[in-house]
Amino acid sequence: MNGEAGRGKLIVLSAPSGSGKTTIAREIIRLNPNIRFSVSATTRRQRDGERDGDDYFFLTREEFRRRVDGGEFVEWEELFGNYYGTLRSELDRAIRENRNLLFDVDVKGGLSIQKAYPAALMIFIRTPGVEILKQRLRKRKTETEEVLSMRLDRVPMELSMGDRYTHQVVNDDLATAVGEVHEIIQKYLQS
Ligand code: ADP
Ligand code: 5GP
Repeated sequence: MNGEAGRGKLIVLSAPSGSGKTTIAREIIRLNPNIRFSVSATTRRQRDGERDGDDYFFLTREEFRRRVDGGEFVEWEELFGNYYGTLRSELDRAIRENRNLLFDVDVKGGLSIQKAYPAALMIFIRTPGVEILKQRLRKRKTETEEVLSMRLDRVPMELSMGDRYTHQVVNDDLATAVGEVHEIIQKYLQS
């Protein structure tokens, strides 16, 4: 990957669950036809409104493990009782289509991608505080109480690892945060 300006570049977006990174990622894709969303594989349950092959590739645990054994992942993690991973085929497709690729991955996955591709753009999304993050996560109504508390338990570790990302954006007002992320990406693609 890499090379020509604005082609074949990698952008990593990470944040604690509920911070708004998927919402921001979708807006960025809408604003930049040159950027593809890296569709991860996961074993978690499909949420209302999510489409298989668009938001995630929804796999059984057996299928996921089989693909791990087959070397199909660039990185993968077990998070909140489920597997999540970046498929090599997503990178291959972006190279074939000569497009940039945006990853929505957790902090450990993001740092693994950076290790493999040091030129990747690293952006970390924060909320103005943990209370707001909790409120957003609860309001999303996608998790059971058990999974919700697993997600919240992981927040301090994720926030401390977030300091290793080059760019930090606070998602208070959504439009402002999208504007900031968009600007960081535009500069990177032109560099
Ligand atoms: P993540 O992908 O980081 O888990 P989401 O993008 O799913 O987070 O956002 C979590 C919830 O917060 C969603 O219901 C989303 O609509 C909402 N949300 C995102 N950004 C904002 C914001 N700036 N202000 C208020 N609500 C937001
Ligand atoms: P969610 O279940 O809310 O969609 O995602 C939970 C967490 O998994 C989020 O932090 C999300 O960024 C992360 N995630 C999604 N796909 C991947 C992936 O391919 N690899 C890693 N490491 N994390 C992922």
